[in-house]
Parts: sequence; structure tokens; C-alpha cells
Amino acid sequence: MLGWSMNLFRIRGIQLAVHASFFFLLAYVAWEGWTAASWPGAVWSLGYILTLFACVTLHELGHATAARFFGVRVPRILLLPIGGMAEMETIPRRPRDEIIIALAGPAVNYVIIALLLIVVRFPDDWDPLYFEFGFMELGRQLIVVNLVMGVFNLLPAFPMDGGRVFRALLACKMPYLRATRIAVGVGKVLAILGATYLIYNEHYLGGVLFAFIIFAGERELQAVARAERAAEHWREIQARLYVPIITKTDPNEPPRLI
Ligand SMILES: [Zn+2]
Repeated sequence: MLGWSMNLFRIRGIQLAVHASFFFLLAYVAWEGWTAASWPGAVWSLGYILTLFACVTLHELGHATAARFFGVRVPRILLLPIGGMAEMETIPRRPRDEIIIALAGPAVNYVIIALLLIVVRFPDDWDPLYFEFGFMELGRQLIVVNLVMGVFNLLPAFPMDGGRVFRALLACKMPYLRATRIAVGVGKVLAILGATYLIYNEHYLGGVLFAFIIFAGERELQAVARAERAAEHWREIQARLYVPIITKTDPNEPPRLI
């Protein structure tokens, strides 16, 4: 499903791509804007959603920049209707590195809020659910959406950023696989609670997001379990063979025989 994507352009060597379903979101948003206020409504709605996803891209670039600092390659950032994903070639196992990479995304949202607050003013009777046309209103809405992104991503629901921080903290005290299993379990409980609440209140897109958290958490848990099994297999071979072995500094990689 994640294969149906289109490459846009490269930012500092990272390919920015959009999933095909993103265009359905654009069409839906434009139609909603048009039904509310004809062409100006459609144009402002599209402008809003595109600037919102520019913020999502900056959030992901925050992760990618921190990841590169720790030597992790990030070949692609994929935008989906429910958010973005910085695709890293490896997930760093050093808790400190993982915490910094995870926090770098939400940190970007708070920087955007701080910059917008320099110019954006809120009237006393401002209603966030009523979207006026104008750049000041666009700025207000972007402050709200960056705040939502900054707070929501810090929930300890693995594989959200807060969940990664939680896993890294657990990994300081226990084996990595066990830490991942606990973080994924907590993430699933939170996701089920969140999805139930949102679907009950008829916010179906939010419900899909939580379903994605369960799917993505499980997928990453399986990947960690596979990597652990492979490492265990290599350790067994290493114990049986009486040949010199160079052990890599990265515990994820199998040792190389010489
Ligand atoms: Zn993030």
C-alpha cells in the first residue's frame, strides 16, 4: 500500500514523496472549501492544507537532520494524508541518539509557533472553528495545528515520537526487544482508546491515524524481533567457528568473517 507514491523534489539530498492517497485529501479539502464559499473557499482551503503539510515536512526534516548528525541515512520523507514519515535506514539503538532524533521533530513545530507569534495576533473573540479568509487567519490556524502536532506527537504511543522516547528510556533498563514490546503494547492501548474516542465523536480521519499507529507499531516490533533473531544466529555461528571475527560497533549488524 505504501508503494503507491510519487516523488516530488529533493531537499538536502532527501527525496520528498507523496502517497497517492494524498491527492484524494487535496480533492476532498478543495471540495469542502468550494461548498462552503465557492472558489475563494477552495483556494484558501488548499492553501491551508499545503502550508500545513509544509509544516509536516519541516517536522520530518527536524528528525532527518538529527538522524544525519548521528550518522543515520534518511533517503526519503513520505507524506501521507495522516502525516509524514522520515524513512531511516537504521533506527539508532543508543537511547540518547533515539531520544534526540525523536524530539527534533516536535521541536521544529514549537520553533514555527514561536516565529509565527512574532507577527500573528489573536482577537479576543477568536473562534478557531470559524475560518476567515486572510493571511492573519492562516497564521492563527497554523499556530493551532503546529501546537496539535507538537503535543500529539509527544504522546507515548509508539511509533509516535513520544513512544520512541518512552522506548529509549525503557531500553536504558532492559533489553531492546523487551523495551520495544512494552512500548508497542502501551501504544496499542492508547491508540485503541484514542480511536474509540474519535470515532465515537465522528472524527473518522483521526480514527484512521490511530489504526495506523497499531499497524506501524506492530510492524516495527516484528522488524526488531527479526533483527534480534539474526543477531542471535550470528552469535551462534561465531561461537561454533574458530576463525577471527571482526565485530561491528553496531550491534544490529552481523559480524563480518575474515
Ligand atoms: Zn515526528
